[in-house]
Amino acid sequence: MPEPPRMIPLYVARVADLRVGTLVGVTCRNCGHVAEIASAVLRERLPPYSFVKQLGPQFRCQSCGVKGADVDARRALGHYG
Ligand SMILES: [Zn+2]
Repeated sequence: MPEPPRMIPLYVARVADLRVGTLVGVTCRNCGHVAEIASAVLRERLPPYSFVKQLGPQFRCQSCGVKGADVDARRALGHYG
């Protein structure tokens, strides 16, 4: 039986829960630069057991170079659609 679509709360979501084929929004806390990273890329680069909500401080902004971002993984966790 196929697994039904799940909606995973952000506070328990891990990298392994990000749906392949979706994008994770990352917003720089310093300059507001917005980047969208494919879930597949995050799953390749990060440990699957990392908590999604704790990833923000690890991202470095491509625009201003400051580390620390807000992560919006709602779509990647099935919260929309
Ligand atoms: Zn920035």
